[in-house]
Amino acid sequence: MKLGFDIDDTLLNLREHAFRIYNAKLNRQIGIEVFHALTTISVHDAFGLTAEEGRGLWNSHRDEIYYSAPPFPDAVEVLQELARLGHEVYYVTARAAEHCERTKAALEAAGFPVEDGRFYCGMGDLEKIDVIRMLRLDYYFDDKPAVIDTLTELELRLYTKDSGYNRHLTVPRIVNWRELLDILTDA
Ligand SMILES: [Mg+2]
Repeated sequence: MKLGFDIDDTLLNLREHAFRIYNAKLNRQIGIEVFHALTTISVHDAFGLTAEEGRGLWNSHRDEIYYSAPPFPDAVEVLQELARLGHEVYYVTARAAEHCERTKAALEAAGFPVEDGRFYCGMGDLEKIDVIRMLRLDYYFDDKPAVIDTLTELELRLYTKDSGYNRHLTVPRIVNWRELLDILTDA
């Protein structure tokens, strides 16, 4: 099978990591339950910041957030297992072009299986559909409603990575990556 994965908040726990960094940088102690209750993608809402302040905070810490965000539990192990079972693992991320090389290297360093020609980066959210269609993926996983909404007409199995801002989506969801091994076994 050909399986495609978004990276941020699908494989990497980016927002929670940003939340912890913001707490430290702003010298605040906002509880993690506030983070878990967020129904917005933007994390700055938890700190009572305006959109502009949030953007500034994000921009000044983006590199640190991108390159120190940990994978979700079991994400590395499950994708390694997929590769071992002979599945093709693809990455489709809308991170900006200047981050593509470092992002690929960081995935490899974290232990994700990254084969040549299976890392796609630098497209816009709404251009992901072109990559996914061209690759003829059997499965695709993403957290973002604005992306998922563009993909529902494709003939592939579409899943969302469960988060507070995507619970209104009716596509099936992954809470822990271990579930994917069962999904593929049952398919
Ligand atoms: Mg994402």
